[in-house]
Amino acid sequence: MIAEKLQDVEKNIEAAKARRRADLTDDVTLIAVTKNHDVAAMREAIDAGATQVGENRVQEAQGKYETLDRKVTWHLIGHLQTNKAKHAVKMFDLIHSVDSEHLARAIDKEAAKLGKVQDILVQVNLAHEEQKSGVEEAALRPLLDICDALPNVRVLGLMFIAPDYEDREQCRPLFRRMHEIFLAAKDIPWKTSNIKYLSMGMSHDYEIAIEEGANIVRVGTAIFGPRQY
Ligand SMILES: *Cc1c(COP(=O)(O)O)cnc(C)c1O
Repeated sequence: MIAEKLQDVEKNIEAAKARRRADLTDDVTLIAVTKNHDVAAMREAIDAGATQVGENRVQEAQGKYETLDRKVTWHLIGHLQTNKAKHAVKMFDLIHSVDSEHLARAIDKEAAKLGKVQDILVQVNLAHEEQKSGVEEAALRPLLDICDALPNVRVLGLMFIAPDYEDREQCRPLFRRMHEIFLAAKDIPWKTSNIKYLSMGMSHDYEIAIEEGANIVRVGTAIFGPRQY
């Protein structure tokens, strides 16, 4: 069941890639979002070919991290509280949700203690949604400048969560704008940052996101079915 749905998503990703404009040629990485699904479901997805898993809460991820007997790349996609930075840095290969100087500095400090350089993405709140994390577009460059100067943090790109529009096509202009912001950030001559990832697109809109330039998509429901809360 999970294996079949994963294959369907992979097929849809290939089809969406084929529909892209000629200037969009990046490979697309699929993150299987495993929040609220158990380790058995994670194993099933990994055995069917998933190589990347995404979790949105540090505490939930911790239990799974200790239990899961598979090698996989771990992504933190949910909001991170500064006081959980220590645990996040221990587990996650890529933290997608950095949106403040305070958090970036906390991650840097904890990574330094572990002798690690923590790869991060900066989350952008393009649609000015009050309830969502992420920096406003105007605050992005200052935060990127700060992160670029932190020795134990390395920025690899940007992350965006689209608003929950009924008609997903409404997300398209926002995805397109995010891609423009991404290209502009990529062009800046950074010291240590290596802007190469644009993480956007979920079960309902990953194909549109890919058409507009996403090269990481985060898909849960379309692979694992609805979550039980
Ligand atoms: C839950 C979640 C996803 C996956 O959502 P689905 O609609 O189940 O695909 C993607 N990104 C973030 C940040 C999430 O919290």
